Amino acid sequence: MKAMVLTEAKKPLQLQDLPVPEPKKGQVRIKVKACSVCRTDLHIFDGELKPPKLPLIMGHQIVGTIETESSRFQKGDLVGVPWLGKSCGVCPYCKKNEENLCDDPIFTGYNINGGFAQYTLADEQFVFSLPKGYSDIQAAPLLCAGMIGYRSLKMTENAKKIGFYGFGAAAHLLIQVACFQKKEVYAFTRKGDTKTQEVAKSLGAIWAGDSETKAPDILDAAIIFAPVGALVPIALKAVGKGGIVVCAGIHMSDIPSFSYEILWGERILRSVANLTRRDGEEFLALAPKIPIQTEITTYPLEKTNEALLDLKEGNISGSAVILPFPKNQVPNSF
Ligand SMILES: [Zn+2]
Ligand SMILES: [Zn+2]
Repeated sequence: MKAMVLTEAKKPLQLQDLPVPEPKKGQVRIKVKACSVCRTDLHIFDGELKPPKLPLIMGHQIVGTIETESSRFQKGDLVGVPWLGKSCGVCPYCKKNEENLCDDPIFTGYNINGGFAQYTLADEQFVFSLPKGYSDIQAAPLLCAGMIGYRSLKMTENAKKIGFYGFGAAAHLLIQVACFQKKEVYAFTRKGDTKTQEVAKSLGAIWAGDSETKAPDILDAAIIFAPVGALVPIALKAVGKGGIVVCAGIHMSDIPSFSYEILWGERILRSVANLTRRDGEEFLALAPKIPIQTEITTYPLEKTNEALLDLKEGNISGSAVILPFPKNQVPNSF
């Protein structure tokens, strides 16, 4: 099979011909139809997150078909594989239904090979059935941008006015959920990025502007999607008393020191780590009711490096999706 392999941080992924992997007990083999690119892939590629194994096939928003015997699925079923590849089931966190915080987790495309390849393996207990109505390509961004974004949105509790800092793949999806839930979204983008601000408004943001601009209203909560620590004090200043600021990414640049005054008033600053299967199931049940539209740009497998670079430079509106089999190519977006 063809796969794009990370052999060393910051070195372009290599296109390699590898044997099709054989599943072990409890695993299924999946023929990959589409795999969306996540900012976490970029953090691994850049060496900001050190992968436990090299060489590594990244990619953890996988949509594909079941190829081998399974106790949960039929051969040919279209399924999704998320970031949480497996949790230990016995640590204190797993025991209190917080498998996202597991002490001994296995992450897809990090501890084990992921979906920038024609075939991959997954633990069948951590594989999702996909909602009807989504094509393989459209469904791929739901698997991480959507699911972890959804967990972040839940952490804002009953906030009505929510600021989104950074308007990439996750924000594109989550604004649709927030609007469906009758919340007001204030979209903050990189300075001068009027194009993204227009996109945010077209998706339902009631206001959009530069992240350095003062919000037109006091916010109840903010979600920081961008991996930029400098946004933390900015978001804290934007929320009112009791407001919640959620850092949604797995990695962030250092947070500058700030005066206690902007945390005072029972403001809450928290991170969101990974996802539970329950988050995924809730989100996949909700997505077709809205229905969430995914905006995608597709790349053939051998152009995965280009997709990572486009993500890094902010040249993608919505999500980048890798297509491992050439016949699956479709025009970009829909
Ligand atoms: Zn991800
Ligand atoms: Zn555990």
